[in-house]
Amino acid sequence: MKGAMIARSLAKWQGEDAQAEPWQGALRTVIRDGDELLKLLGLSPQALAIDRRQAFSLRVPRAFVARMRPATPDDPLLRQVLPLLAESTSQPGFGCDPLAEAEANKVPGLIHKFHGRVLLIVTGHCGIHCRYCFRRHFPYAARQASRADWSQAFDYIRRDASISEVILSGGDPLAVADRHLQWMVGQIEAIPQVSRLRIHSRLPVVIPQRITPALLSLLTDTRLQVSLVLHVNHAQELDDSVAAALKPLRHAGIALLNQTVLLAGINDDVEVLADLSERLFAIGVLPYYLHLLDHVQGAAHFEVAEQSVRALHEALLARLPGYLVPRFVREVAYAASKIPVGSVAP
Ligand code: SF4
Repeated sequence: MKGAMIARSLAKWQGEDAQAEPWQGALRTVIRDGDELLKLLGLSPQALAIDRRQAFSLRVPRAFVARMRPATPDDPLLRQVLPLLAESTSQPGFGCDPLAEAEANKVPGLIHKFHGRVLLIVTGHCGIHCRYCFRRHFPYAARQASRADWSQAFDYIRRDASISEVILSGGDPLAVADRHLQWMVGQIEAIPQVSRLRIHSRLPVVIPQRITPALLSLLTDTRLQVSLVLHVNHAQELDDSVAAALKPLRHAGIALLNQTVLLAGINDDVEVLADLSERLFAIGVLPYYLHLLDHVQGAAHFEVAEQSVRALHEALLARLPGYLVPRFVREVAYAASKIPVGSVAP
C-alpha cells in the first residue's frame, strides 16, 4: 500500500499521466530484480553473488540492459548496476558521506562547496542506480527542498553576488517532468548575476528518449548559457541511440562534457579509457573529468590503487591528443577545488 502511494507521488513529480512520454514509460519499467536481470542476460542466479538486501536497490533501464553482452558475468555495464555481496563488507575510510556534503547543504536542496557555483538537488530519483555512487546514502528526504522551500535556495543564490553558475543535480535532474524543470530554469534566470546553467545527468545515456524536442526548447529558450555534463564510464554505453539523442543538443550550441568514474574491473585499462575518449569525441562530447572513486560505503571493491592511476594517466597521455585525455581528479571533503591526480605529483 505504502509502495503504491510512493509510486503515485513519484509519478506526479515526474509528470506521468495518461499522456506519459516514452521516456517516462521507460523509467516506470526499469528492471529492479537481480534474478530477472541475470535471466535476461542468459546467466544463472549462481553466476554472481547478488546482494538482495541492499537498501540502495537495483535499478536499470531496459535500454541500458540491451547494451550488455549476454552470458558475460564480468560485463562492464552489468558490473556497474548489479548489487554484489562485496558491498556488505565494510572498509575503513569508506563512509556514508565521503565528501562531507551534509555541511555544504546550506539550505534545503542546495549544496555550496566551491567558489562561484552552487548545486541544486532537483530530485533524489535516478534512471539507474550506479553501485559506486557517492550519494548512495544521501538522505534525500531530509535534505531535499519541497516546492514551498525552494525559495530559500533561490534567496541564498540571490544574496551571494559571486555565484554565476547553478548546477542542476540529484539524483538525476532530468528525471523530473519538463514543467518542473521549466519552473526551476525560470527561477534561476530571474537571478541577475547567474549566467550559466549546468546539468549533470546520466539519463541521456541510459534512456536516450529523454532528449525530446520539448526539452531541447526548454534548454535553448533561456538567456543562460547551458552545458550538459554526462556520465559515461565505458564506450559500450554509447550506442547509436545515444549519439542520435545528443546530436540536436550539440547543434543547438549546448556544450557537452563527460565525467567518468575510474572503476576497478570496468574501465581501469588504457585501451578501455582511450576507446571511451575516442567514442565520446566522435559523438560530440568532450572527455572532461576522470574521477577517482569517492570513498563511499559499499563501493570499496571498485577502488583502483593510486600507483595504477598514475600509470594509466601516463599511458593515456602517450596514446591520445591532450584534448582527449580527461583531467584525472579526486574530490576531497572541504578542499576548495577538485585535486588533480596524474603522472605528475600535485
Ligand atoms: S545516475 Fe548519478 S546520482 Fe544516480 S546513482 Fe548514478 S551516479 Fe548516482
